[in-house]
Amino acid sequence: MSAQVSATALEKLWQAATAVGATVETDVAFADVTTSHVGAPTLGVIRCHTAQQVSAVVRAGLEHDVPLLTLGGGSNLIAGDSTVGVERHDVVLLQQVPPTSTEEKISPEGRIVEPGVQVVAEDDTSVTVQVAAGLNWDTFVRFSVYQDWGGVECLSGIPGQVGATPVQNVGAYGVEVESVLERVQLVDRLTGAINWEGADQLELSYRRSNLKFTNRAVVTAVEFRLRKGGLSAPIRYRELARQLGCSIGGQVRVEKARDTVLKLRRGKGMLVCGTGTEAGGLGSPQKSGIWIEFCEGMFMPDPDTYSTGSFFTNPIVSECLLGHVTEAVAAAGIDPNTMPQFPGGGGVKLSAAWLIDRAGFKKGYPGDGKPARLSTRHTLALTNRGTATTSDLIELAEQVRYGVWKQFGVELVPEPVLFGCALKPLEH
Ligand SMILES: Cc1cc2nc3c(=O)[nH]c(=O)nc-3n(C[C@H](O)[C@H](O)[C@H](O)COP(=O)(O)OP(=O)(O)OC[C@H]3O[C@@H](n4cnc5c(N)ncnc54)[C@H](O)[C@@H]3O)c2cc1C
Repeated sequence: MSAQVSATALEKLWQAATAVGATVETDVAFADVTTSHVGAPTLGVIRCHTAQQVSAVVRAGLEHDVPLLTLGGGSNLIAGDSTVGVERHDVVLLQQVPPTSTEEKISPEGRIVEPGVQVVAEDDTSVTVQVAAGLNWDTFVRFSVYQDWGGVECLSGIPGQVGATPVQNVGAYGVEVESVLERVQLVDRLTGAINWEGADQLELSYRRSNLKFTNRAVVTAVEFRLRKGGLSAPIRYRELARQLGCSIGGQVRVEKARDTVLKLRRGKGMLVCGTGTEAGGLGSPQKSGIWIEFCEGMFMPDPDTYSTGSFFTNPIVSECLLGHVTEAVAAAGIDPNTMPQFPGGGGVKLSAAWLIDRAGFKKGYPGDGKPARLSTRHTLALTNRGTATTSDLIELAEQVRYGVWKQFGVELVPEPVLFGCALKPLEH
């Protein structure tokens, strides 16, 4: 038992959770439920099916003084373990589970239905859908594409749950979830009250919202407005436009956009093979994700997928800092005209992957046999090759961040939520 949470308090929380129909599992470690597969044991996990259950558990946590951490698919979360001084986290994980089935079903009228997705408004050109937070994000994207709804196809293949997508305003290939987000249902972490908030109240920006790092609320449902007619969002990402054979700003069929995005993501190791124990075992190349054949007919997840995706956000610098970076790039013997830069976020957005690579950290760094390495397909992902600890990942992140700062004067900022671990401040 932990020093902070008494056995009695924990027992009362378990009772309150099961009384409302939530399920309880003890002996769950972060390593079992995150895509980086690191992290110490927790006090347990409570799994909820409804917002009312989430509310009751939040209230019980407050009443009995038991800390709760909201967990989705664990794909943007790195937790401490004994190598950073955490033997056990004094926290209970609160996870929402997908509605009964994530497989498509045929309704009596012959329509495909997806449990957890409900049409709440519709006109000639658009449809508004309410989606349960616990549903897998890519299941929802795939379903939308089947329905010929446009707007989320470029976000295909992002791991994790629907409820987490507003938290960091997920984005990929030129689209952010903000572009289709209407409102979110929230359970307040200080009162347990259930309320809806409009997207405009979430202070959404590049990989940010006022839900990220704040623990202020649990997202229990999300409403998205999608376009009817089967056309994608305008294609803004150069590499995607090239692959699709369309111009920037052009639109293509949603299924074509989805297939191409999945192909690009596969090439970069940015598709996971399930989460936690599911991803730790054997699998089949027919299932989504990236599998490697380790002996004839036997497949396991490719360790390039044991990550949180991009470890650093793309830095946004002022015009003034851009001048210094350009000078540093030239001083390193690199043509500054080759440095990717885009207007964004009130400044100039640079490519973290490009800076990392040009600072000398190549794909696969620091090389074969090391427990934590940059992905062999993408310099921005820090991967666990199977036996990495939290300190292996943190030390690699610190090394990369220091190298980029020393070479170009840019301070990279981690994208995932770090729980019970942290990067040391840079010594300028
Ligand atoms: C291979 C790979 C590729 C990725 N590619 C992308 C990408 O292209 N674009 C991108 O933006 N991200 C990407 N990510 C990061 C990650 O998948 C997303 O941020 C995703 O939305 C996280 O969802 P999750 O359910 O796994 O959240 P978790 O990792 O479980 O949680 C992340 C944070 O959100 C909080 N949280 C989770 N659910 C809720 C909720 N319902 N209510 C309130 N807070 C909640 C948690 O407390 C935690 O602080 C990638 C990750 C991986 C592993």
